[in-house]
Amino acid sequence: MKAAPFAYARPAALSDAVAELVDADGGGKVIAGGQSLVPVLAMRLARPTTLVDINAVTGLDALRTVGDRLEVGATVRQRRVEHAPESAQVPLLRLALPWVGHRELRSRGTVCGSLAHADPAAELPAVACCLDAELTLTGPEGERPVRAREFFDGAMTTALRPEDVLSAISFPVAGAREGFGFAEIARRHGDFALAGAAAHVRVDDDGGVSAATMTAFGVSDRPVTRDLTSLVRTTGGDQAELAGALDEVVREVVDTDGDAHASNGYRRRLLRALAARELAKAHRRAVRGTAEVES
Ligand SMILES: Cc1cc2nc3c(=O)[nH]c(=O)nc-3n(C[C@H](O)[C@H](O)[C@H](O)COP(=O)(O)OP(=O)(O)OC[C@H]3O[C@@H](n4cnc5c(N)ncnc54)[C@H](O)[C@@H]3O)c2cc1C
Repeated sequence: MKAAPFAYARPAALSDAVAELVDADGGGKVIAGGQSLVPVLAMRLARPTTLVDINAVTGLDALRTVGDRLEVGATVRQRRVEHAPESAQVPLLRLALPWVGHRELRSRGTVCGSLAHADPAAELPAVACCLDAELTLTGPEGERPVRAREFFDGAMTTALRPEDVLSAISFPVAGAREGFGFAEIARRHGDFALAGAAAHVRVDDDGGVSAATMTAFGVSDRPVTRDLTSLVRTTGGDQAELAGALDEVVREVVDTDGDAHASNGYRRRLLRALAARELAKAHRRAVRGTAEVES
C-alpha cells in the first residue's frame, strides 16, 4: 500500500519546524530516520496532513560531551553513536545499540526517534530510563526538560505534544566505579525483545554497593525502572542469589496478559534470568572499575 497524501516541509531552523507543527494543528508528524514512521505510513496506520522533516535543521546533528553529560541531537543516527569515541563514556549505550534491529536500520534510525516512537519493547528507551537521561522537548513556548522516567506514558505514548520536537537527549557519563549490563531475548536477531533488562551498579571506594538500578523492557506498556540497591548489596552481586531474590520484583514488573509470542509466566522467567545475570555483570564491572563493555 502507499501512504495517504501529505504535505512535506523541510525547515532549516528548529523554530520553523515547530511552527510547521503548530500550523498543522495536530495533523503534523516529525520524520527523522523514518525507520518506524515510513512503514506505518505505508500501511496507512498513520495519516498525517504534514510531514516535518527535521534532517536539514541546523544544530540537531550534534553529538558531544558537555561536562559530565553526553548530548545526542535529534538527527544523530544510532550507528554514529554506536561507533563514536564520545559514546564510550556511556557504556550502557554501547552495550544496547547492537541489539536495536539491524545495522542498516541503525544507519538511518535516530536515538531520539526511537524514544519518540516509544515502543515498549525497544532498547533505547530502557537505556534512557536506566540512566535517568534528560530529554529536551522544544515547542512553541521554547525548551522544556523532561526526565526519561517521566517521558513514557504508555505504549507509543509520551509527554510529547503534537507541536513538540524532541530536540536532544543527554546521558550521564559513567564514573570509574560504575558498571553496566544489558541483554534481551528475542525470537530472532533484530526482532523486538520478548523481555530485556538494562542494569547499572555503582560501588564506593570500599567496594560496597552504593546504587543499583534495573530497567525491564518488553514486559509492560513502557520501560519499568526499579531501585535494587539493597537487593544487590545483600546478595553481594552473586548471580544465583540475585535470581532468587528477584522473584517479587519480577512478579510485580511483568505486566502483560501474554501474547502470541510469550506467556506472562515465560516472560517472568526470562526477565528473572536476564536481570540476575546483567546485575551480576554490572556489579563485577563496577568492582573492577574499568567501565568496560567487552566481557
Ligand atoms: C524491520 C525493523 C526492525 C526493527 N527492530 C527494532 C528493534 O529491534 N528495536 C528498536 O528499538 N526498534 C526497532 N525498529 C524500529 C526503529 O528502528 C526505531 O523505532 C527507529 O530507529 C526510530 O528512529 P527513526 O529516526 O527512524 O524515527 P522515525 O521513524 O522517523 O519516527 C518514529 C516516530 O517518532 C517520531 N519522531 C521521530 N523523531 C522525533 C523527534 N525528534 N521529535 C518528535 N518526534 C519524533 C515520529 O513522528 C514517529 O512518530 C525496527 C524497525 C524495523 C522496520
